[in-house]
Amino acid sequence: MTAAASARQILTRLHEVMAGRTHAQYKLDRVVEIIAESLSSEVCSIYLLREGALELYATQGLNPEAVHVTRLAVGEGLTGTIANNIETLNLAEAKAHPDFAYRPETGEEQFHSFAGVPIVYRERAVGVLCVQHVDPRRYEDVEIEALQTTAMVLSELIAHKELVDGESVIDLEISHVENDILEGLPLVKGLAAGQAVFHQPRIEIDQVVAEDVEAERQRVYRAFDKMRDQIDALAREPEFGKGGEHVEVLETYKMFAYDEGWSRRINEAIDSGLTAEAAIERVQQRTRMRMREIDDPLLADRMHDLEDLSNRLLRIVSGQLGTAATQGLRRDTVLFARNLGPAELLEYDRRRLKGVVLEEGSLTAHVVIVARAMGVPVLGRVSGLRTRVAEGDEVILDADHGTVTLRPNQQVLEAFETRFARSREKQAAYAELRDVEPFTRDGTRITVMMNAGLRDDMSALAMSGADGVGLFRTEFQFLVSSTLPQRDRQMRLYRDVLDAAGDKPVIFRTVDIGGDKAVPYLDTAVAERDENPAMGWRALRLSLEREGLLKAQARALLEAAAGRSLSVMFPMVSEPWEFDAGKKVFEDQLAFQRDRRRQVPETIRYGCMLEVPALADMLDVLLPKLSFVSVGTNDLTQFLFAADRANPKLAERYDWLSPAILRFLARVSRSFVGHDVQLGVCGEMGGRRLEALALLGIGYRRLSITPAAVGPIKELVRKVDLGELTAQMSRWLAAPPPDMRGALQQWAGERDIEVE
Ligand code: PEP
Ligand code: MG
Repeated sequence: MTAAASARQILTRLHEVMAGRTHAQYKLDRVVEIIAESLSSEVCSIYLLREGALELYATQGLNPEAVHVTRLAVGEGLTGTIANNIETLNLAEAKAHPDFAYRPETGEEQFHSFAGVPIVYRERAVGVLCVQHVDPRRYEDVEIEALQTTAMVLSELIAHKELVDGESVIDLEISHVENDILEGLPLVKGLAAGQAVFHQPRIEIDQVVAEDVEAERQRVYRAFDKMRDQIDALAREPEFGKGGEHVEVLETYKMFAYDEGWSRRINEAIDSGLTAEAAIERVQQRTRMRMREIDDPLLADRMHDLEDLSNRLLRIVSGQLGTAATQGLRRDTVLFARNLGPAELLEYDRRRLKGVVLEEGSLTAHVVIVARAMGVPVLGRVSGLRTRVAEGDEVILDADHGTVTLRPNQQVLEAFETRFARSREKQAAYAELRDVEPFTRDGTRITVMMNAGLRDDMSALAMSGADGVGLFRTEFQFLVSSTLPQRDRQMRLYRDVLDAAGDKPVIFRTVDIGGDKAVPYLDTAVAERDENPAMGWRALRLSLEREGLLKAQARALLEAAAGRSLSVMFPMVSEPWEFDAGKKVFEDQLAFQRDRRRQVPETIRYGCMLEVPALADMLDVLLPKLSFVSVGTNDLTQFLFAADRANPKLAERYDWLSPAILRFLARVSRSFVGHDVQLGVCGEMGGRRLEALALLGIGYRRLSITPAAVGPIKELVRKVDLGELTAQMSRWLAAPPPDMRGALQQWAGERDIEVE
């Protein structure tokens, strides 16, 4: 008989036992009998995790009295080691292994050889299946395979509660590691608690043993075909043409998708009697186990990609499509993902989404900006998500200190509650500043506005007490819709935003699509492949060429602001003529409206963003043309340092407080002297206290920031003596200290100005 046929026979017998309407104990007793017999072993035992220890649940060959008596801690003895390391042991001489622990009640001293495999549920060991033999021999690979497959069947049965009898509850959800702490980079500060939910949910496998092997084989073939199509389609998308990390990932995907070895192993697993789903999972488990033994970060990355792909294949084959957002959040949630797009994040229910943990991510990636606007703390650059977090784990996210605690114990929970309460007190203190105007100690009024992008954001205006909306990112509407928003829909949004703002000003920025804000309906239709989208065909560059787009937006804005005042800002202006061209589209539309005797805005103010360094040298030409300029430090700094703002590898490399950036910004601010043009900053930098302090010290008096930062920044402003700060900053810029951040921190500390 071939190995596959014998494996299938074992599975079929196991399946019959499991399908019977009998007691769990009876089933387990039969399982150990079948395995012992099939593997010609004197002993076969099953240990399952109960109340934190591995308990002998069934045995063939060891002393039956030891059942439910012998208990081993995870990590104790060979069995405990297998569970702890989620590894397979295959030993000719068990006693020779350093972890061997002798249990006299089992009567196992006569057996020399030992092989054991973990029973894994959601990447965590919930038990161990092992065989022992009198003769000192190592088990054959096919025998180990058979054990592993059986372990998997057992795990699925446990998962479906088919093995739980009355009181003997098997711990599925409770890991042995309490207070497991993962570390990362704080991207949006804040605290959150909730249950762990994966953005790409794990697939539940309902049936493990195949009824019709041929049918399962066909299902896997079809799934492979579909997956390859999807990957190929992905490769044709413009964002993958740009080079860099995306492309590497895609290349790896392709390599795996077309990897004969992978599909062959899955087919072999089907031959041994597993369903398509179980076979995919089985192969994945085996790879995971192998990878655990190899300590190579590069391979770990690859593993990650294979894991993604394997999940994709599982989703296709099982028809369980969609993300956690489509399934809906049931409780307070901390979301885990490798990465997310801004639109994907916006699909989540804001009331339930309390925090986000990403394996990638960077401070100015748009998903992070959106999360910041939603007030959702985000921790990025966290590794180990897949192996250490289980769906449904209780989680405490401390994005202030850069940690996530998994499965916190009572003590940690209480400490968290105390901190949470303190942070709420602070929030309440900020709320009291809502109606207080932010004057510096020496009497300069600083304008603190907020950034917004969606209708929902507008409620934050009253709540935060911001002076207005200094940046309304109109492209968010484009990002969250599946088709191009028509003029009417745009107009309704802008009108609602103006209504919500009342007397406070709103600066609408025309669409900034492209870069990491790709919209499928535009990109695939019109965009050539951009090698480098952040520096490519985006924002005003795109709007000016797709004139219909800008015209429609101009009409929508003019109509929405009829009878009131309108402020329009153009993004990514690189040369003054681009501003002129953008303005002309609006002026033409205005004339058109007037011709038709339609009501038009009472006043229109035009401005532009300064995010392209070249524009800074043209301010003498530009400034006479406009009313305001807002520095977009997110883009500006990525161009100054030639460091992609969305690249997680560069997320921590350059500091906004570097003398190069501050000198540049100071020079920009000096260029405004003598011009009646408002100058502000609307990048993320302005919402961070230490950075805001530096900006105030180099002449910036208007900040537009994320709503949650309005309170803290107002508080900061009120503590600052602007004259003193300005003098200090100019000394530092003339002769930069080796650590500008440290120097500023110390300066603030000495003046009792809180900057963290
Ligand atoms: C910026 O670049 O700083 C900015 C505010 O615009 P966005 O983040 O939307 O590119
Ligand atoms: Mg920008």
